[in-house]
Amino acid sequence: MRVVYGGTFDPIHHGHLRLAIELRERLGVPAVSLVPSHIPPHRGAPGATSADRLALLHRAVADEPGLVVDDRELSRGGASYTADTLRQLRRELGAQEPLVMVLGSDAFAGFESWRDWQAIAGLAHVVVIPRPGGELEPQSVPARLLETSPARTLDALWAAPAGGFIWLELPLLDISATAIREHLQQGRSPRYLLPDAVLAEIRERGLYGVHPACPRNTN
Ligand code: ATP
Repeated sequence: MRVVYGGTFDPIHHGHLRLAIELRERLGVPAVSLVPSHIPPHRGAPGATSADRLALLHRAVADEPGLVVDDRELSRGGASYTADTLRQLRRELGAQEPLVMVLGSDAFAGFESWRDWQAIAGLAHVVVIPRPGGELEPQSVPARLLETSPARTLDALWAAPAGGFIWLELPLLDISATAIREHLQQGRSPRYLLPDAVLAEIRERGLYGVHPACPRNTN
């Protein structure tokens, strides 16, 4: 089974990392792949370049073998459509291996506006994590996909390569990348919202309005 967790990761933070670890344990897989988007089609331009966001991700998972970075959306270039990413993964995995994509319910609420969304059930299972502010309209397409899913439990995802839509409650940290960017822009400390190594890299690269760290003054 391959488990992929996509996002802008602008920047990666402990909310994302805890979710990936919880999911890895709940699914019983050796690793979860974090897939940063290059050009996210459904939101404004990220606050940091793809190369910078990727470098932050690598710093975040450097000592955690259960989390790996998959940079295929950057290598591919152009707008990062999830259906294209899942098609590419499906070609690599073959027809039978289960492929699972995970996302928050805030992201899933807009599923119908994604390019080629109808193709996704044929390519992967979708695990949706409820997030505050990410409630689904009762009769909406995303809600109907969850209601009519052929797979109802995480165990059932192992029995088929794709096609399940599962609503999975997980403990969540109330952290957003938006809040972290605001802290940095306002000169406030975002410490403990994200790994220290990621914060150090943000300072070294001078991202999100932070003045680049002076190499002679690193404490
Ligand atoms: P922003 O504040 O810039 O919108 P974000 O923190 O919501 O960013 P994204 O990169 O947009 O992060 O999110 C990637 C995925 O992670 C989405 O599926 C989103 O629902 C989920 N996610 C974001 N923050 C958390 C969190 N604190 N806990 C669990 N999942 C999260």
